Amino acid sequence: HMEIERHEYDVVVIGAGGAGLRAAIEARQQGKRTAIVCKSLFGKAHTVMAEGGAAAAMGNVNSDDNWMVHFRDTMRGGKFLNNWRMAELHAKEAPDRVWELEAWGALFDRTKDGKISQRNFGGHQYPRLAHVGDRTGLEMIRTLQQRVVALQQEDEKLHGDPEAYIRVFQECTVTRLLKTGDGPGDPISGAFGYWRENGRFILFDAPAVVLATGGIGKSYVVTSNSWEYTGDGHALALLAGAKLINMEFIQFHPTGMVWPPSVRGILVTESVRGDGGVLRNSEGRRFMFDYIPDVFKDQYATTEEEGDRWYNDQANNRRPPELLPRDEVARAINSEVKAGRGSPQGGVYLDVSTRLPAAEITRRLPSMHHQFKELADVDITKEPMQVGPTCHYIMGGVEVDADSAAASVPGLFAAGEVSGGMHGSNRLGGNSLSDLLVFGRRAGAGASAYVDGLKARPVVSEESVATARAEAMAPLERDGENPYEVHHELQRTMNELVGIIRKAEEITQALEAVEKLKERAKGVGAIGGRIYNPGWHLALDLRNMLLVSECVARAALKREESRGGHTRDDFPGMSPEWRRKLLVCGASADGSSVTVEEKVQPGMRDDLIKLFDRAELKKYITDEELAAFDALVK
Ligand code: FAD
Repeated sequence: HMEIERHEYDVVVIGAGGAGLRAAIEARQQGKRTAIVCKSLFGKAHTVMAEGGAAAAMGNVNSDDNWMVHFRDTMRGGKFLNNWRMAELHAKEAPDRVWELEAWGALFDRTKDGKISQRNFGGHQYPRLAHVGDRTGLEMIRTLQQRVVALQQEDEKLHGDPEAYIRVFQECTVTRLLKTGDGPGDPISGAFGYWRENGRFILFDAPAVVLATGGIGKSYVVTSNSWEYTGDGHALALLAGAKLINMEFIQFHPTGMVWPPSVRGILVTESVRGDGGVLRNSEGRRFMFDYIPDVFKDQYATTEEEGDRWYNDQANNRRPPELLPRDEVARAINSEVKAGRGSPQGGVYLDVSTRLPAAEITRRLPSMHHQFKELADVDITKEPMQVGPTCHYIMGGVEVDADSAAASVPGLFAAGEVSGGMHGSNRLGGNSLSDLLVFGRRAGAGASAYVDGLKARPVVSEESVATARAEAMAPLERDGENPYEVHHELQRTMNELVGIIRKAEEITQALEAVEKLKERAKGVGAIGGRIYNPGWHLALDLRNMLLVSECVARAALKREESRGGHTRDDFPGMSPEWRRKLLVCGASADGSSVTVEEKVQPGMRDDLIKLFDRAELKKYITDEELAAFDALVK
């Protein structure tokens, strides 16, 4: 039977990771009837996998830390392309969000004097990551879920129904956002999706939707991301008429497992390096010393001795280059392997075994110890790991207003990995978990304020429901190509042609391939019915992965410079002219065409730009901007 189950809410949050849960908690606290919809099981979001920690300038381990230092590090990490207002809000609000988590029951690791402990991470000047061993994300999700349950218990007391104001719809995939009409300015009126288990359709009538769907890693073969990361939120936003920015910037984490093949891409946390682990090539050389770029020369140690002293005396030494931002380390590993100095299985060596006592390793990195023992039969307390770059995080996402997380479509909001701007061209480790909390809360508040301001509830256009339903049914009605074939080819194409090092010719080839795959995707079939049919689910996800891949490739072709997570072999330099430019992707409502336009990003506010030295700014900004800076500080 084709009946569609219908629900009415004020705010629908799509995604139950850190961003989605924090948004939902906020919306509920502001009195909104809130739905949390997630395609995986509740609790199984990407956030759970986060290992290292959440970056927040609390100054617990080094009292010199404060929001201004964090802001500077974030802008540097993103090579000054970041939306500076987001970077400012993030740096200022992250400590409060971490303390709030603690108040809600999170059990962080402690310093000797009982404060929340903070660890070193790449690109962060001071120890800044609040953490729980190497299982921080798990504790964060546990705490946020516990908070949701606490609110439900409160509602049960007040209203006799725990789900009166907040309800979770798990294993439920949204395939379309609904609006009042087709125009880009027409407001959101709901969302359409299906239950994974039985394939039945579900519709939410709601004036506000918060996208918190995470990333896009499943468009690549080698990735640290799991099956949910098919770019759904990115695509849903595009199809609803919103814009994506920074899509050319993808973070290849330098250290994924390379062996055995079945686990290739699985993450090896940066904490291994933060806690003293070093990278060596097949000749035993700590090669990162050969790859310190000019812009970072003053901040990194030039000898192994200095780098090693830094772990115990940060005031008088510079940090080891293993802790450069991720893009730098990933490119260096890539070059070493290409030059024939890689490990037997095509990575390089990451060694902590000769650096820390075994007991210390198992205490600080229990998950890594377990992961290598179980998956690769390697004991990291005794021998080095083999690691190589893996597609990890997308900096690009929905273009939003920094303060309210509102997208350009009225009623649409986005937070977390699915949003764009905060991290510029490269995200620092630890800045995602804090981003989720800061902007998750802001999105929940933004959506609530929007709902409060409405004179009437926008009404779902029945035509759009019929279209969404027909689109979802289509693969079931065709005896077509297997969607897994198309998916694998897309993954290989993106990995090989729009990967860590890019050039025009290859990106063009990729775009041609994507065009053909889009045609093939129209013919994929998944007969077998609607009851738990993974082929059908993948057929629907394909639309999203193809759309997002096209955005990545088109923006990558257009940006003729190298910066952060976008390296062009044919344009190796970083260009001050390009720094000010954002590439904005849009799509037609049926997804058949993608456009990319240049847009100038507004200059940094005076009090913020003054936080930087002239000598540093000179490396990034145009002469004209530098003249304006000189006039300002005179
Ligand atoms: P997620 O936590 O991924 O949640 C996405 C949610 O959206 C899920 O509930 C999913 O089911 C749902 N969803 C997706 N599509 C749909 C749909 N169509 N319909 C319904 N629901 C949908 N960052 C750090 O700051 N520190 C770290 O130490 C760190 N370690 C990491 C380790 C690993 C292995 C990985 C992969 C990432 C790590 N990151 C880390 C990055 C960080 O974990 C993620 O960027 C972040 O958790 C994303 O959170 P989110 O709330 O945006 O999305």
